[in-house]
Amino acid sequence: MKILVTGGAGFIGSALIRYLMQGTAHHVLNLDKLTYAGNLESLRSVATDTRYEFVQADIADQPSMVALLARFEPDAIMHLAAETHVDRSIDGPAAFIQTNVVGTYSLLEATRAYWQALPVERRDAFRFHHISTDEVYGDLHGADDLFTETTPYAPSSPYSASKAASDHLVRAWHRTYGLPVVLSNCSNNYGPFHFPEKLIPLVILNALAGKPLPVYGDGLQVRDWLYVEDHARALFKVVSEGRVGETYNIGGHNEQKNIDVVRGICALLDERVAERPAGIENFASLITFVKDRPGHDQRYAIDASKIERELGWRPAETFESGLRKTVLWYLNNLDWCRHVQDGSYQGQRLGLDHSQLLA
Ligand code: NAD
Repeated sequence: MKILVTGGAGFIGSALIRYLMQGTAHHVLNLDKLTYAGNLESLRSVATDTRYEFVQADIADQPSMVALLARFEPDAIMHLAAETHVDRSIDGPAAFIQTNVVGTYSLLEATRAYWQALPVERRDAFRFHHISTDEVYGDLHGADDLFTETTPYAPSSPYSASKAASDHLVRAWHRTYGLPVVLSNCSNNYGPFHFPEKLIPLVILNALAGKPLPVYGDGLQVRDWLYVEDHARALFKVVSEGRVGETYNIGGHNEQKNIDVVRGICALLDERVAERPAGIENFASLITFVKDRPGHDQRYAIDASKIERELGWRPAETFESGLRKTVLWYLNNLDWCRHVQDGSYQGQRLGLDHSQLLA
């Protein structure tokens, strides 16, 4: 297959591309605008593979999408490009509407034109896989409630509302135009190459620098954590074996309170890091409770039984094993972190000249 991955320079997209290059024989075109969240250093291990190609472009630029589809002729599109950070969506929602809603619309329209012109056999086999989040379902209140694929949408933040809107567009393009889509909604991911504005890498790097470890409100918010490489495997299952028009929830069976996640990281750092920042006996002493995020959802948890039953997928990592791998990865890859923190990851871009890439 030729697979077009949007947002492939991001956290999950880069894990997906590493998986596709290392675990399958497929060809991949990575289409990414390279916002602050896009980092080609996360793809260093596959950058020279002849089955891999990168193009810098914006999914909202419909003429470019049309041209790119005509040139690459994909058998499947895996759409991950998005603005993704909830706090940023509260401070500045416009970029979220532009990329997540308008961008998804533009990509759908370019895809529809491309797909309708395909020969019949390729039309039937074609897939548009839209990657979304469990945050579209809003908050869970009962301690035993779980999000299923039929849970009504009730998004709380500008981020989750924009993702919900994009999910509706994708389903409408299936119902109205027959575009062969599959969707997946996933819980919180964690693992290597995660941008350090998100909880787990932020806590690791702040702790190593002896900075406060901010925890929102009482820290009792519950998230269902999934190791990113388990997610990448699940995404490939969905795009290659999922039933057209269906949605698959993906989760890790790993419900954790935020405060326990932070304490777990501190315990691993206590075990692994001999040199403590000055005046620090144990890393947990850096934990600082800060004013809660407005509209903060209390609990998310996924019922992943459909993907397990229909596609035979299960997560391989427990939270304990995945968190240990993640902390070790950050300790062993401080250069990657330094390049993100000092902004140099946005400079050289592995020596590629972007004006050439766009041409
Ligand atoms: P990320 O923020 O790490 O990466 C997003 C990528 O999209 C970046 O490389 C960025 O440059 C690119 N991008 C942004 N705007 C673009 C545009 N207009 N055109 C082209 N590229 C653009 O995000 P992530 O955490 O890897 O998430 C990927 C997808 O998975 C998103 O759709 C997100 O909603 C979804 N998701 C994420 C999580 C999670 O825990 N991280 C959980 C469930 C679902």
